[in-house]
Amino acid sequence: MKVALVMGGARGIGAAVVQRLAKDGAAVAFTYISSPDKANDLVASIEAAGGKAMSIRADSANPEAVQAAVESTVAHFGKLDILVNSAGILHLESVENFKLEDFDRMVDINVRGVFVAVQAAAKAMKEGGRIVTIGSVSGVKVGFAGSSVYSMTKAAVATLVRGFALDLAPRGITVNNVQPGPTATDMNPPDAPYLDAVRNMVPLKRLGQAGEIASMVAYLASDEASFVTGSSFTVDGGYTA
Ligand code: NDP
Repeated sequence: MKVALVMGGARGIGAAVVQRLAKDGAAVAFTYISSPDKANDLVASIEAAGGKAMSIRADSANPEAVQAAVESTVAHFGKLDILVNSAGILHLESVENFKLEDFDRMVDINVRGVFVAVQAAAKAMKEGGRIVTIGSVSGVKVGFAGSSVYSMTKAAVATLVRGFALDLAPRGITVNNVQPGPTATDMNPPDAPYLDAVRNMVPLKRLGQAGEIASMVAYLASDEASFVTGSSFTVDGGYTA
């Protein structure tokens, strides 16, 4: 049985990844920070279906907590085969008003948190390990005023992934990045005033579903993706086409 750790797995894209990897037969640990009830419900639903899951409270902005999450996963399930980083935050603000504490917080979670998770997980993984990050199409196309810093963090993730892939190739560990387009999660609540405009910018004229992002993650985390590393894959309904 493969063992996976999903950073930020209690809701949104991360939760869809947790569900999909569990459905595909993995034991899945996942972290949360503000959603303990959703984390408990998700563990209960996977266990009710005969799977194995555990939740770990860990702030991705705290390197010790991220390291401890990797250690807890290995202690509980005996090994680590797959790391997925979905934890991320979005703060939109024009450059004139962007507060430095918001800049630092977004970099701490979206970039340093990914670095620390990959560093800790890579040490625990053996040959055949799989690392998948959730970047964003915003790393390719900024698209909207106010998204400069968020887009920078996602471009940074895509570049880190290329470097990590080279670092870890000698050990047979692959590293890839999934770049969702606008996806229906709490990050894009249904009452957001910009949603109609966003839908119109997507050739398929709708937001993606979290499960559609998880499908790409599941492929990259599988044995089938053994020759895929250092790549970013957009799943965006044609938004960047
Ligand atoms: P949500 O806002 O629905 O969920 C955010 C997730 O990140 C939650 O699991 C949350 O945990 C976790 N998280 C946030 N801050 C921290 C932290 N400090 N420590 C640990 N976990 C944290 O977002 P999505 O599911 O939409 O986003 C998931 C990823 O996908 C993000 O990296 C995002 O940037 C990216 N993305 C999303 C797109 C979209 O349109 N939705 C498009 C492109 C990329 P908790 O529930 O405990 O708060």
